[in-house]
Amino acid sequence: MKRFILALSLLTSSLFASSSVEERLWDNGDTLLQFLQRNSIPMALYYNLDREDQELASEIASRAKYQILKDTNGQIEQVLIPISDELQIHIYKSKDEYKLTFTPVDYTKEERVLRIEVKTSAYQDVYEESQSSTLARAMVRAFKSSVNFRSIQKGDKITLYYSQKRREGKLWGDITIHMAMVEINKNAREIFLFNDTYYGRDGKELESFLLAKPVVYKRISSHFTTARFHPVLKRYRAHLGIDYAAPTGTPVKSAGNGTVSFVGTQGGYGKVIKIKHASGYTTLYAHLSRFAKIKTGQKVKQGQLIGYVGSTGMSTGPHLHFGVYLNNKAINPLSVVKIAKSELSTQAKAEFKQKINAYEEALQKIQTNPPKEEEFGNYIEF
Ligand SMILES: [Zn+2]
Repeated sequence: MKRFILALSLLTSSLFASSSVEERLWDNGDTLLQFLQRNSIPMALYYNLDREDQELASEIASRAKYQILKDTNGQIEQVLIPISDELQIHIYKSKDEYKLTFTPVDYTKEERVLRIEVKTSAYQDVYEESQSSTLARAMVRAFKSSVNFRSIQKGDKITLYYSQKRREGKLWGDITIHMAMVEINKNAREIFLFNDTYYGRDGKELESFLLAKPVVYKRISSHFTTARFHPVLKRYRAHLGIDYAAPTGTPVKSAGNGTVSFVGTQGGYGKVIKIKHASGYTTLYAHLSRFAKIKTGQKVKQGQLIGYVGSTGMSTGPHLHFGVYLNNKAINPLSVVKIAKSELSTQAKAEFKQKINAYEEALQKIQTNPPKEEEFGNYIEF
């Protein structure tokens, strides 16, 4: 296994180091199948994938940055297409034959702390100190509506404890804020990440974006996972949504108020509806048997009928594949699908307290070390 990864990372770094590497942006609506066809790469590469991998291949985001290496005749030798911060599609030529694998993006993780005193505005100062708009955005997103960033004034303080990925020596991808504090007029507001959700010190969840469950389901047949090595299949898998098992024809409802941005078919996802919501959220409903009377551009309300459960695309049985995206990146739907803000149970609260202690210890140890260096950037161009 180790040898495989090593060979792969050598391959990857030689790909990046080569001068004939082109960096491109994935066209809106383009599919892997169309990409293969256009570039005279056998479409069997796609057709030979199993159901889950065909689903994954439908995850390539529009404006995803991908790399192509061509030989002197203009023939493609290698392509790396990211499908998340962690996983990418790797197409390469081996003995004149094209191969396709899903490989993890090679990165390291580091913990950082940023402490600043506000001079102009929270967002601006965090950005200027770190040179990272990703960090400034992550801060605003983490606090949700629990802090009014406009009320922050000169002299107020901000502390962010977060982890950041590094790829090829540069800062890469999304940032996870573990703990953050803003001191507004000497009044501290703190948030702590625990099981993918932010809580105040009292263990009460911050108010979150309200998305409701889109379907009445029998069971969850597949949970959300990012790059995960499958010990039996001996390869990397991911499932960037939740599968709700339900009979064909079960009504599917919009998870929130929003605007329909796509109605149609999308690769392995079959019949798909996408809805844009406020604050950069998009939801996706896949494998539908049919659509309700809706069209692109139409406004929908939370709970409004949009389609029916089915098994179109690559699917072994009727289920709803439900995806949630924040700024085009898949996030765990269970972290936002809620009906009310919740409080931790007594046992979870004890674990939460331990987590807070661990965070505070880490915070003591790590000196302020904002990046102020080149970013590899997100895999999606904003
Ligand atoms: Zn699924």
